[in-house]
Amino acid sequence: MISLKKAKSIISENIFILKDEKVNIKQSVGRILRENIVASFPSPRFDNSAMDGFAVRAGDTKNATADIPTELKIVDISSAGTPSDITIGLGECIQCMTGAEIPKGADSIVMVEDTSGFSDNPHVKVMISVPHGAHIRKKGEEINIDDLLIKKGTRVTANELGTCATFGYGKLSVSKKPKISIFGTGNELVEPGEKLAKGQIYNSNLYVFKDLAEKAGSKIEMSEVIKDDKDSLKSFLSEALEVSDVIISSGGVSMGRYDYVRDVFIELGVKEHFWKVAQKPGKPLFFGTKENKLIFGLPGNPVSSFIGFMEWVWPVLITMMGEKSEKSIYGILDEPFPRERTKHRFLFGRAKYKNGKLVCHPTNRIGSHMLTSALGANCILGSDPGDGPLNPGDLIRVNLLPWKIIQ
Ligand code: AMP
Ligand code: MG
Repeated sequence: MISLKKAKSIISENIFILKDEKVNIKQSVGRILRENIVASFPSPRFDNSAMDGFAVRAGDTKNATADIPTELKIVDISSAGTPSDITIGLGECIQCMTGAEIPKGADSIVMVEDTSGFSDNPHVKVMISVPHGAHIRKKGEEINIDDLLIKKGTRVTANELGTCATFGYGKLSVSKKPKISIFGTGNELVEPGEKLAKGQIYNSNLYVFKDLAEKAGSKIEMSEVIKDDKDSLKSFLSEALEVSDVIISSGGVSMGRYDYVRDVFIELGVKEHFWKVAQKPGKPLFFGTKENKLIFGLPGNPVSSFIGFMEWVWPVLITMMGEKSEKSIYGILDEPFPRERTKHRFLFGRAKYKNGKLVCHPTNRIGSHMLTSALGANCILGSDPGDGPLNPGDLIRVNLLPWKIIQ
């Protein structure tokens, strides 16, 4: 059995970074950027109107009021996408819509609400005096050309997507998706929706794995529940080793008579780097490699599998894609946390902000078979080994589940 720290360092020595590929921006959501996104032009790209109204020379409106409006001659229309080529002179104006380029000679916009309105009339009455520059969005006021907008290593979400589109990126360089094969083992496993016979249980782990793997940004190549039978395991795994970057199994890796997963990995030429880590749940964790393929064997208890994926596999997947991982964060316990004397202890937990501080507590269902402990959880709490429980007020590491919000 090795320490958590040692196990992490062994894994990081064996991780490789996936190649990148260009994808259409439409396919980029959830992918990890492998290029910096820089401003290809200033933003706004040209002076334009923030309002529907009239482009004027501010000086012409100097004496305008609602009671004594100033009349200006309308010489053209500038609309978004169809700018006017005309230069306005003294006493003239151009109807100018939101987003339309400011015509030459104009220095301000009068909102249509402060005029007699749009019409076919060749003149408009302006009922307000506007300051120089009113309602003009100035070229470059938001972003200068060549400004760094998004750093490589960022995951593309709606936040980034809008900016990439704004600056005209039709294609983006992103990491290739890790190719993943997941499998569960156990003669007792039955698919949800089917009937259970005596002694059988439903397979839940592969459903969890599939969602977690896809959320992390990987592509599932193979997924199967396999009987506790060496030949079936061998045939699945030899194919999985051909087509995957990462293989993740659940179950069959402990001390049971029918736990063949580790043996089969080794028989297929997988190099074992470690088996068994000082952690609870999930002690019999297997990690191996074959060429540049990474193989994780997680124990089958559903909480061990779920937490094992989040603590061990998730960070590997995002590192392979070049995503910058978040630094560890710590919260303050508001209930005791059952520490282990010699093992790292993980439990699902719930974190929330109270008076500006991150406060958290573990689930009270602490068995590794109790998957309902994931319900309502928004984090995994992790503590180093130590004597006696951690107490309210003590700090604990919080691994926030990225798809849950803190409330
Ligand atoms: P194992 O690691 O194979 O000894 O399995 C440990 C426990 O997890 C046993 O109670 C199994 O029935 C259960 N288990 C294994 N695989 C799954 C699965 N895919 N879904 C739900 N429970 C499982
Ligand atoms: Mg089993």
